[in-house]
Amino acid sequence: LYNMVQDLKGNIRVYCRIRPAFRSDTKNVIDYIGEDGSLVVLDPSKPNKDGKKLFQFNRVFGPTATQEEVFGDTQPLIRSVMDGYNVCIFAYGQTGSGKTHTMCGPVGASRKEMGINYLALNDLFDLSNSRKDVLKYEIFVQMVEIYNEQVRDLLTTDSTSSNKLEIRSCTSENGLSLPDATIHPVKSTTDVLNLMKTGQVNRAVSSTALNNQSSRSHSILTVHVHGKDVNGGTIRSCLHLVDLAGSERVDKSEVTGEGLKEAQHINKSLSCLGDVITALSQKNSYIPYRNSKLTLLLQNSLGGNAKTLMFAHVSPEGDSFGETVSTLKFAQRASTV
Ligand code: ADP
Ligand code: MG
Repeated sequence: LYNMVQDLKGNIRVYCRIRPAFRSDTKNVIDYIGEDGSLVVLDPSKPNKDGKKLFQFNRVFGPTATQEEVFGDTQPLIRSVMDGYNVCIFAYGQTGSGKTHTMCGPVGASRKEMGINYLALNDLFDLSNSRKDVLKYEIFVQMVEIYNEQVRDLLTTDSTSSNKLEIRSCTSENGLSLPDATIHPVKSTTDVLNLMKTGQVNRAVSSTALNNQSSRSHSILTVHVHGKDVNGGTIRSCLHLVDLAGSERVDKSEVTGEGLKEAQHINKSLSCLGDVITALSQKNSYIPYRNSKLTLLLQNSLGGNAKTLMFAHVSPEGDSFGETVSTLKFAQRASTV
């Protein structure tokens, strides 16, 4: 396990997940899924050799992959948070491609359908418990959303609290990048479920108030881990679990006002994220973290000794082919395979 964890360090892993097809009135674009992480998609308007595009990722999860299987491949990375590594996991893809399904699970999910957020915390509690004779862990969570380049606390019960949290620009290794967001100790999965409920309610409230959908904002669940060993040594690390805003290109001629502003902010922050990931995968010396709130906030978990995993989500329906290819290209660009 140690070697595997070392392998993951500083590298960006990319997994692709294809959700099941919901409609049969359009051709399915998935042509081939390889055990080795290869994926071939087929352009429905060119159903011959020329319409095939090959992509290579660390892994591809097909439409029948279960939440447990997906979590199973993510678990070693998540566990390394308990050894002091910062970890960042993103869900990227167009609206409706399954990002929230992977991170949270379906609305009103049973335990079996729970997504990575819940399974990760559950696993961290187990690990903390199994190490309790040598290490005492404390686990805290924060949850925020970024909408139109403003950071908002999703776990505050104070409705008058500020909508515009400041990101601490110089993130010391131990410091919080969002010192003013509420931070909540969690000891059990019940605590986590309650907080997630609050987060979901707050996100829904803001969606209606701003007349938008949750797919127009990035939501970030941050898990802070503090560990103390018997000799007084300490571990501090964090895990960011990010459900990104929908990556679909909005036709600028069709949206105006708020919609256009939202679209521009989303395009900008996702392209900044792409630039940061590309710069990291090319081992560039300059990494443009400061170009968006998203990358600034996640700075301490991207690059350096941190470990990054991106889930690229795609919809298999033919009419999503354009977005599917653009998601796969974004993911391929981020990938170091
Ligand atoms: P996004 O967050 O990317 O907009 P969602 O996660 O909300 O997409 O997924 C859209 C719909 O598809 C939801 O009803 C969700 O439950 C369903 N869905 C997504 N992925 C899967 C999957 N792997 N298996 C079954 N249903 C899925
Ligand atoms: Mg969603």
